[in-house]
Amino acid sequence: MNENALVWKQTTQENAKGTWTVFPELCKGCGLCIEKCPTNVIYWSDELGFMGTPTVKTRIEGCIICGMCEKVCPEPAIYVERKKKNIVFPENK
Ligand code: SF4
Ligand code: SF4
Repeated sequence: MNENALVWKQTTQENAKGTWTVFPELCKGCGLCIEKCPTNVIYWSDELGFMGTPTVKTRIEGCIICGMCEKVCPEPAIYVERKKKNIVFPENK
């Protein structure tokens, strides 16, 4: 759970690897996430952010949940969460 989720409008998308969330009201439209995404899945949205500039969306099927976009974003506008693997411990004998 990201604390921003309690305050700001959010759009979350999910794939097998995890979830990708954008908080459009926190995006300033700098384009850094688009530039740095290794799989080029982030693109401009029609929705405007707090600076009156376009915010971003992702094509979630191609997202590898690497977290790069969250890391380079100068605002807390993206939140990436990798799904935890179920670890199965062998039974004690
Ligand atoms: S998590 Fe990685 S692959 Fe997914 S949108 Fe962000 S930078 Fe691109
Ligand atoms: S890096 Fe952050 S502020 Fe810049 S366009 Fe992407 S989501 Fe918006």
